[in-house]
Amino acid sequence: MSRMPGIPPEERPAVAHVATDAAIGRTFDYAIPPALAASVVPGALVRVQFGHREIEALVLGTSARSGHPGALKPVLGAAAGKPWLSPALIRLAGWMSSYYLAPIELCLKIMLPPVVRDGTREDGFKRRLVVRRARPADGGALPGLVPAPATARQREILERLGDGEEAVAGFCKAWNVSPPTLRKMAAAGLVEIEEKVERRDPLAGRRVLPSRPLPLTDEQAAALALVRAACDAPADGPPPRPVLIRGVTASGKTEVYLQAIAGELAKGRGAIVLVPEIALTPQTIQRFAARFGDTVAVLHSQLGAGERHDEWARIRDGSARVVVGPRSALFAPVENLGLVVVDEEHEPSYKQDETPRYNARDTAVVRARFEHCAVVLGSATPSLESWRNAQEGKYALATLTHRAVDAAELPRTVVVDMRGDAAKAGGKLPVFSDTLVEAVRRRLDLGEQTMLFLNRRGYAPAVSCPACGHREECEDCSVAMTWHRDDGVLRCHVCGAFRPAPERCPACGCPDYRYGGVGTQRVEAVARKLFPRATIERMDVDVTTRKSSHEEILGRFRAGKTDILVGTQMIAKGLDFPNVTLAGILNADAGLAIPDFRAAERTFQLVAQMAGRTGRGLRPGDVIVQTLSPEEPAIALAGKEDFEAFARGELAERRELCYPPYAHLHCATFRSESREAAAAAAARFAAAIGRSDRYLLGDPAPAPIEKAKGAWRFQVSLRGPDPAVLLERLRAAAAATAPAADRDRVSVSIDIDAVGAL
Ligand code: ADP
Ligand code: ZN
Repeated sequence: MSRMPGIPPEERPAVAHVATDAAIGRTFDYAIPPALAASVVPGALVRVQFGHREIEALVLGTSARSGHPGALKPVLGAAAGKPWLSPALIRLAGWMSSYYLAPIELCLKIMLPPVVRDGTREDGFKRRLVVRRARPADGGALPGLVPAPATARQREILERLGDGEEAVAGFCKAWNVSPPTLRKMAAAGLVEIEEKVERRDPLAGRRVLPSRPLPLTDEQAAALALVRAACDAPADGPPPRPVLIRGVTASGKTEVYLQAIAGELAKGRGAIVLVPEIALTPQTIQRFAARFGDTVAVLHSQLGAGERHDEWARIRDGSARVVVGPRSALFAPVENLGLVVVDEEHEPSYKQDETPRYNARDTAVVRARFEHCAVVLGSATPSLESWRNAQEGKYALATLTHRAVDAAELPRTVVVDMRGDAAKAGGKLPVFSDTLVEAVRRRLDLGEQTMLFLNRRGYAPAVSCPACGHREECEDCSVAMTWHRDDGVLRCHVCGAFRPAPERCPACGCPDYRYGGVGTQRVEAVARKLFPRATIERMDVDVTTRKSSHEEILGRFRAGKTDILVGTQMIAKGLDFPNVTLAGILNADAGLAIPDFRAAERTFQLVAQMAGRTGRGLRPGDVIVQTLSPEEPAIALAGKEDFEAFARGELAERRELCYPPYAHLHCATFRSESREAAAAAAARFAAAIGRSDRYLLGDPAPAPIEKAKGAWRFQVSLRGPDPAVLLERLRAAAAATAPAADRDRVSVSIDIDAVGAL
């Protein structure tokens, strides 16, 4: 029996508490056989008997005794090697499970790398055989120790091999050598054949020139000092305060992150950098790789399974200590974590839209607290949640007001009142205002580049009949179809369904069927007419479905082959092209019309983001915002780039109406094939929550998109200042109404701190 010094036998962990996919929402106890005592530790994957099956389970914790009466079945086996999950991550999963009302298994599952999650048996490494000339035994340079080749062919093969190492397969093919020949030579001691793990490197083939830390501006230095202070918080004190860096675009936030991370690496600690998936461009990755080389691991959704596996393995064994990736990278098993960075912390994509519906920014703050490490949130336009935390002193605040490059001025923003242009055009709203046309022409003359943004893809989003008013809607979703002129179809942007575009009204036969409204395809078409000599490209999901086309389009734009890039939010974020001096937002009102209490905040962010895309080189940039409501604070203040004034006004309004950040807002959604069933489930849920003066309960109502992918959707929202009260009511209502929802086949999802339409 193994001895554990210092622990009396009755206190030794003898029971493992495990979670498994086989039963959601429960944990189970198994006995730890003494022989497995060393490997059955928290975070380890084990095999256990479950019913009649043998299954894999994850150890959440161990203890001396079980609360269960009766004998426990033993753990049957445990995976070799270090556990995948550290105690801090297991604790984080527990927090997520209770805060986001999600089963613990699902919270644990998203923390595991896909190979482990999917239960692949092999270890997932790619191996290949390599061959090289036999070397004399170590230290002995005596040529006599390696036998001489016996034949001319063997000598030739040795010459071909030279001093290098070759993959057996490639070598045999290239030089027409049969594998048995090589094996014979290996047996004779002429060559060595070895199996090697080959790393699949997502950065392979990229030239990365090393970069050195830049001398910081005063503002950057002050921000870095705040971050360093958080990194150096004494281990026996309270966890450090999160740091919010509000820095205008191109003010050098990334340089501050890089230098803070360098400091942590020097202390032997690691770092995680979260960026929105859309901003995880080759450019971003390049900047981290250039500074930190091989110690950077990149995780993003476009990685192949092999690359992903190998990156995780490098993180786990400590050879990669800086992890850059989208929200799920927060769970990377970085040991001795010193710093977590959440760049563009206001981005809605940090919220996962399936269970567990966590917000990676908020969860990052919690992980940092559990790991007692620093966390930095960065943005040009912080979320009002983080901004309020900074105002109240819960977060430390650093502000970068200038662009980092000496000569770079902040772009000028011009708000164009489209009502004037519409009046001139006889009441018809033009796609381009005169101001914008003028500005684009000037860039074309100067050889500078333009980006045009519209958050609507396709050609015409409003397909209707002037005679009978018939609108083309999706059969499975309660939304209008969008005409995609490129491929001649009507497409649903919710479910992706498409059908041929009719030439006359399907209802009354009227030939004057109208394709109204403006999408990116139409902007592109109009731009081609207005600027016939310009090279124009479009970037939206319709043209970037191929894996590489995104990079190809950006590559041409970067190389200056494209004069005008038209696109959706894909072009609004994170891109850095020094020759872009004009950004146009074609319809800034579109975002304001969305039924979401954050609509104004999102619109402000969009304008600031587009401003961030221009004037990043030596010439100043301009932003032109076309709108029908220039007096809206979100637009007027975005035009003046006055975030603080916008935040003040918006916060006052939120406080008045009891919206975040003055309250938590949660939303339960009920989906069913039957509209009545979904509505009834929502009504039962609201009734089970009940009225109280401690929160505001929204009336059950159809979701903004009432029907999507064939499912009817009803919602109940709940908001109030005390998160514990809200969670308790939601839990109770979910439990009380679950049987009826099951019976009526209504699926229920509860979104904590909901982000998105409401
Ligand atoms: P942000 O992350 O705030 O958008 P970046 O870190 O990307 O800003 O910086 C914008 C540009 O300014 C980059 O090209 C970067 O290399 C450069 N830069 C950043 N800090 C400095 C500095 N201290 N001195 C000179 N150039 C800098
Ligand atoms: Zn649809």
